[in-house]
Amino acid sequence: MALIVQKYGGTSVGSLERIRLVADRVARWRDQGHRVVVVVSAMAGETDRLLVLARQIQEHPMPRELDVLLSTGEQVTIALLSMALNAKGCPARSYTGAQVHILTDSAHNKARIRDIDAARVGADLEAGRVVVIAGFQGIDEQGDITTLGRGGSDTSAVAIAAALKADECQIYTDVDGVYTTDPRVEPKARKLDRITFEEMLEMASLGSKVLQIRSVEFAGKYKVPLRVLSSFEEGEGTLITFEEDAVEDAKISGIAFSRDEAKLTVLGVPDQPGVAYRILGPIADANIEVDMIIQNIAAQEATTDFTFTVHRNDFPRALEILDATAKALGARQVLGDREIVKISLVGVGMRSHAGIASRMFATLAKEGINIRMISTSEIKISVVVDEKYLELGVRSLHEAFGLDGLRATAGVA
Ligand code: ASP
Ligand code: MG
Repeated sequence: MALIVQKYGGTSVGSLERIRLVADRVARWRDQGHRVVVVVSAMAGETDRLLVLARQIQEHPMPRELDVLLSTGEQVTIALLSMALNAKGCPARSYTGAQVHILTDSAHNKARIRDIDAARVGADLEAGRVVVIAGFQGIDEQGDITTLGRGGSDTSAVAIAAALKADECQIYTDVDGVYTTDPRVEPKARKLDRITFEEMLEMASLGSKVLQIRSVEFAGKYKVPLRVLSSFEEGEGTLITFEEDAVEDAKISGIAFSRDEAKLTVLGVPDQPGVAYRILGPIADANIEVDMIIQNIAAQEATTDFTFTVHRNDFPRALEILDATAKALGARQVLGDREIVKISLVGVGMRSHAGIASRMFATLAKEGINIRMISTSEIKISVVVDEKYLELGVRSLHEAFGLDGLRATAGVA
């Protein structure tokens, strides 16, 4: 008998029919003797619809008011799911975030959970009831409704699982697990049975959008075992684990990529102390996050070139700022390129295997793909390449590192 927290995303509760299917699944777990807490998102598209309504009234509504509105989406689904459970003879109760005291800070629209009072939930579970809790929302110290940022229900589920010391937090979604890479780019991508937290964090932050990244951080911090699985098919999904030995004996677990990149270069800056700070300081002051940074060594002259990447949305502003800095520094030229992507190999096996980077570069070279930037960490190697090479790069690396799944041989892909 286990205590399980199950989270169902928007598509899983996107219609009454699907809500009934969720109720069937929840009831099955309870019938097997488990205690079940369910966290739900709003019905698919609902949060977006509410945002559009708000913007028709006021272009920039006050964050506090927006939270009052956005939190209603989840209030609909908790009630409907609880009704569906009761209708099939499975006793259930629904709660908003405020009702179970999901206490957050007061940063409306992006609040962080501080504390959860598990007592009320515990009493219901003792009484044999399924507890259905609204994801994505909480309440601050003043009693105002807050929301946790888009995709925040994942974080709600993990936080509730941590507070209840649940045996597992199951995230039900429209994919059946975490894949070696995005199957839309590489149809031979294979579902992983297990992945470590560290790898999952890299995969999530590099743009595999299976889980909200904050939920993975939270689960790692509070040691909540997480499982991603499909609400439409049966299966074991992917377990996100702390045990590195338990992970498949592969050097590389997956290939992540991000299209949201842009690159800026300033040529001919003086090679002196303080120059990196003068270039990147104003960028940071503008709240623009910098990802990769490269500075060349000065050749003959006492000048150097400096390149960094930012999110593509930040590119126009970063360019403007860099132009101003370049003038002040007397730099030769500023170059910008927003047609670049980042491709990364991720795997804890990298720690113990040499030669991964060289095999990566050899593979890209064979395909004639020019590498523009490189960066590495303990379990990741990233390269920046031209956008047009994204698919070719991902597929050739997927094959070179033995990640291609059975579907390839079966010819289904
Ligand atoms: N309903 C919210 C959103 O669409 C939260 C969630 O689905 O996780 O972002
Ligand atoms: Mg979601």
